Amino acid sequence: MPEPMVVKIMRAHKNAILAQEDSKMEEMARRWLQVEKKLKDDLQALALEAARMKGDGQVINKAVAMRIERAQKLLYQVRAETGRYVEWADGFISDYQALLAEQGLEHATDAIMAVMKEYDVRGTFDKLNVSAVESMIGLAGDGSPLKRYLGDVHSGAADGMLEALINGVAQGIHPTKIAEEMANGLGIGLQQAMNTARTESLRAYRNASLMQYDASGLVIGYKRISARDERTCAGCLFTDGQVFEDLSQFDEHNQGRCAAVPVLEGLPETQWQDPFDWFKAQDETTQESILGTGRFDAWKNGASLESMVKRVMDPTWGGAYVPTPVQELGN
Ligand SMILES: [Zn+2]
Repeated sequence: MPEPMVVKIMRAHKNAILAQEDSKMEEMARRWLQVEKKLKDDLQALALEAARMKGDGQVINKAVAMRIERAQKLLYQVRAETGRYVEWADGFISDYQALLAEQGLEHATDAIMAVMKEYDVRGTFDKLNVSAVESMIGLAGDGSPLKRYLGDVHSGAADGMLEALINGVAQGIHPTKIAEEMANGLGIGLQQAMNTARTESLRAYRNASLMQYDASGLVIGYKRISARDERTCAGCLFTDGQVFEDLSQFDEHNQGRCAAVPVLEGLPETQWQDPFDWFKAQDETTQESILGTGRFDAWKNGASLESMVKRVMDPTWGGAYVPTPVQELGN
């Protein structure tokens, strides 16, 4: 079955969004190198000192490590450097959110027009401008400032660094190598910042899209569509094709890549291949990658594909469709 125009357009938009995301993540990682660079010599010095202490018969655990004066100074510096990074990241992610919100509006407009064209419907509809989405910029999905979540960057970096120090010393690896591992451990802070950037920018994109659908006065609901590749999870794939009428809500897990195809009043819903048929047509490697080994085995033992998706509800972050935990699958 050839994919309808609206689906083709939306897939192309999504691919462009994800490519853009890669370049934004690279920028965040490049900037993070400054944090590592500033701390490099001190990581090395602490690794040396801790390795020497171990050589003298001391066990280096977290409590001991924290009492080393050099470690205390380093942790202070980690706080200062990650603090500078967070200042930068807060602005960077806010700008990125604004960009994606704007793209969300544009892409939603394109999707509505593609459906109209498909059925040869003429007419115009209200298009929101950027000011309509300004209120979500700089905020996380629960309405609190992005900075509140970026606060984890410091503790993640500090914990990751200390853990690498303790493990490295315990394993007796060379201090230079320990210092490298400590720098990698700091990177947990970067991962947290990237996670916030990805999640909150995609949320801005989805919310803006739904706002534009709603503002059009033509859209009465949306049909979920998933990315359909080996990285798509069971939660996303098996809600693909379902129609929802509430334009104020799109249940999605962190870093989900699903999109909302508009359903227009008086027009048939856009049709595409059933996700179950699609899944069954994939090779076993793809099937196992999508389900995960435990669920794949359960499916082979008779559990239904329909049972592989579960809706969970978080009081702060709202609903999400996720793969059903293996232990909850009956055979
Ligand atoms: Zn998913």
